[in-house]
Amino acid sequence: MREPDELTVLIAAAKRYLEDRVSMGETSIVVGSGSDSRPKRGLALSVSGPGDPAAGPPRAGKAASSGAARGDCHEDSARSVIEVDRRALGEVEKRVSVCTLCPLHKTRTQTVFGTGSGKTGLVFVGEAPGRDEDLQGVPFVGRAGQLLTRIIEAIKFSRDDVYITNVIKCRPEGNRDPLPDEVRLCSPYLVRQMELLKPRAICALGRFAAEALSGVKLSMAEYRRADLSYNGVRVIATYHPAACLRNPDLKKLVWEDVQKLREVWKNSA
Ligand code: SF4
Repeated sequence: MREPDELTVLIAAAKRYLEDRVSMGETSIVVGSGSDSRPKRGLALSVSGPGDPAAGPPRAGKAASSGAARGDCHEDSARSVIEVDRRALGEVEKRVSVCTLCPLHKTRTQTVFGTGSGKTGLVFVGEAPGRDEDLQGVPFVGRAGQLLTRIIEAIKFSRDDVYITNVIKCRPEGNRDPLPDEVRLCSPYLVRQMELLKPRAICALGRFAAEALSGVKLSMAEYRRADLSYNGVRVIATYHPAACLRNPDLKKLVWEDVQKLREVWKNSA
């Protein structure tokens, strides 16, 4: 029967969401849209109205990735929307889709350019597509992508309103690290994406992205402490969601980093 299935999926999504928030170090969650919006100790869940900023779990399936946070962020709506030249961005995407500059074109299923409107001016940059991304042509799908979606929603953005991409647009076989020549040949596409997206703040997901964006080579711990920037835009480096899946202890550090990311975004010009 359809109804129990949906309920089961919803409960599983709620459980996963709460587990993520706890593992990120949260001890309270604001629930409900009424006058009593004080944080409650422990994790209580109540049904909230549509569009409630504190609405608990993301919905399972399509709704989970389309953003429980749509319309959630009061500060977001007060900020001017970044006008992204979609036509120009589409042209870059077309060029990427037929690119044969480096050997990675021989083994890719398809290129993976980027996703999201970018209208908030918040851009997430990972390393390179993995197997799921190569098959679907969309960055950050699969388990790591689902975790990134929940991280984005935890700081009151929606996946649709940020922009998500990678340094490299084709999958390196076996998910190996991209080679320096591959980065050199592919990076002009990222540079052009950034010119068109005009980000207010950038989140580098993993050491590789942090190095590519900042141009300095550090350990992940050093990247997290460093004052990084890309063409004058602040870059906050944090662990790649795939690393968090391998080591859940990292989620707490990611939570600290994305809080900082939100502050940097809020204080950006
Ligand atoms: S990885 Fe980049 S440079 Fe290499 S073929 Fe793909 S789009 Fe072209």
